[in-house]
Amino acid sequence: MHLLHGNNSSLILVSSVVLSSALVWFFYKGSNQRQSKSFASVASPTSSPRLNSCGSDDGSGDDQAQPIRINIIGAGVSGLVLARLLMKRPERFIVNVYEKSRELSPALGGGFSLQSGRIILRSLGLSEELTPELFEPIHTLEQYQASDTTPLGTASMLNSDQTCAVSCALRANLVKQLSRGVSIHFNKDLDFCETRGKIVVSQFTDGTMNECELLIGADGIRSTVRTQIFGYSDPIYSGHSMWYGVSKLDPESDVYKKMKHKMITQSGKGFYTGMYCADSEGKVVFWKTHLNEKPKRETWDRAELYHARMKLYYSSNDIVEPFPTVVQHAERLMHFGLYYRPPLKGKWHQGRVVLIGDAAHPILPYMGQGANLAIEDAAVLASLLSRDDLSFEQVFKMFYEIREPKTTQVLSTSMRMGKFQLASSTLGCFFRDTMSKLMNKFGVYERIIAKQREASLKEIPEEYL
Ligand SMILES: Cc1cc2nc3c(=O)[nH]c(=O)nc-3n(C[C@H](O)[C@H](O)[C@H](O)COP(=O)(O)OP(=O)(O)OC[C@H]3O[C@@H](n4cnc5c(N)ncnc54)[C@H](O)[C@@H]3O)c2cc1C
Repeated sequence: MHLLHGNNSSLILVSSVVLSSALVWFFYKGSNQRQSKSFASVASPTSSPRLNSCGSDDGSGDDQAQPIRINIIGAGVSGLVLARLLMKRPERFIVNVYEKSRELSPALGGGFSLQSGRIILRSLGLSEELTPELFEPIHTLEQYQASDTTPLGTASMLNSDQTCAVSCALRANLVKQLSRGVSIHFNKDLDFCETRGKIVVSQFTDGTMNECELLIGADGIRSTVRTQIFGYSDPIYSGHSMWYGVSKLDPESDVYKKMKHKMITQSGKGFYTGMYCADSEGKVVFWKTHLNEKPKRETWDRAELYHARMKLYYSSNDIVEPFPTVVQHAERLMHFGLYYRPPLKGKWHQGRVVLIGDAAHPILPYMGQGANLAIEDAAVLASLLSRDDLSFEQVFKMFYEIREPKTTQVLSTSMRMGKFQLASSTLGCFFRDTMSKLMNKFGVYERIIAKQREASLKEIPEEYL
């Protein structure tokens, strides 16, 4: 009897290890071979110095002491992080950012869950300890099935040393912090850009023009810079739409206290919904993805907002607290289609113009990785540009070689994740919810987070760790 009991335990243990490894592989498959190029392995110093100073692509220039004028198009997270990192070397770079909006609006955009991006932000003085008002640490992922108030499972979002692996921030707060000290020119909508010898000329829709030695396209999924390099193409509609909003709750209320430090999700037939606290003042970001619609992006006035949120949650008996309460307190609610682009093959640059962030590789938001990738891009590019031994051409080739495998892998995992989350058949929902239960039970989420962190640490340049 004892022996049999012992055998059963071993069998369960072995099965658990095998199953959990299979689940990690399923959700993170391809990551190892795609991410095999670490920053250090690609960007080791070259033996023959090729200075990438102002007038020279090949080291033969005579104006090496001149700082390089770099223009960044777009004051989103990728453009601003890059600007801040380059500004650490004022003797080498003169950085200007051009943004088509009139201002950095405090009510613009939703929030980000940040993992690897936080490591780089720390090197800019932004962290949970230094700027606690900016970040809300997440300790637990809590998952529910439609109509059920008992969680399918919970997973720890802490690293093995109990430090926080994921923090959330409102986009507007992050962008405001990042913009400090950066020379941003608002109301500057890039119309076209062109490399003329060693100079890049930019023309804006207001008729103004300027010149620089290097132009960075950080202008998002509908990038004008990308169109200039690779021609126009529409982003691809995923077949999924999203309701997305920001609510303001009383930070002292019971409902808020219950959801603090948690990311909460709920899955149903053809929909997936989630929420997290995004600052310490009671702001909560929530979303609900669903299938088969292609709405135009719209903002809502008060009356429309009221009807939209009623329709969104109260017409569905599936959705349980705290979602209805959070939605009831929505300050903003939008409904839009989710788009992506297939990976650009071969390069992200032409001449002295290069793309970063969503302009280079827009992905679907199912893994909450787009901003993290954008921040990583900025760190890798800033590090390579700071080197004296590389020409611009070498910098851009290395940048692509380091970043393309990971961004392509995250794109495909996000698409897989979206299909998984939005299961609509009875069998599909059963599979999804059973998998979620098993993933919680066997610590798969914890392992995925650890794997993501390990992979990011390899790619982040040493000076930003
Ligand atoms: C619903 C949703 C939820 C998301 N959640 C997360 C998350 O939790 N975690 C995460 O990591 N990522 C998340 N993402 C992805 C993330 O928002 C993007 O990947 C990230 O914002 C990309 O940053 P970026 O700076 O490259 O581009 P953007 O943030 O798009 O910034 C581009 C900037 O360029 C400006 N611009 C555009 N065209 C021009 C022009 N012609 N001239 C001048 N300026 C121009 C724009 O006004 C904008 O300010 C989410 C995305 C969506 C849609």
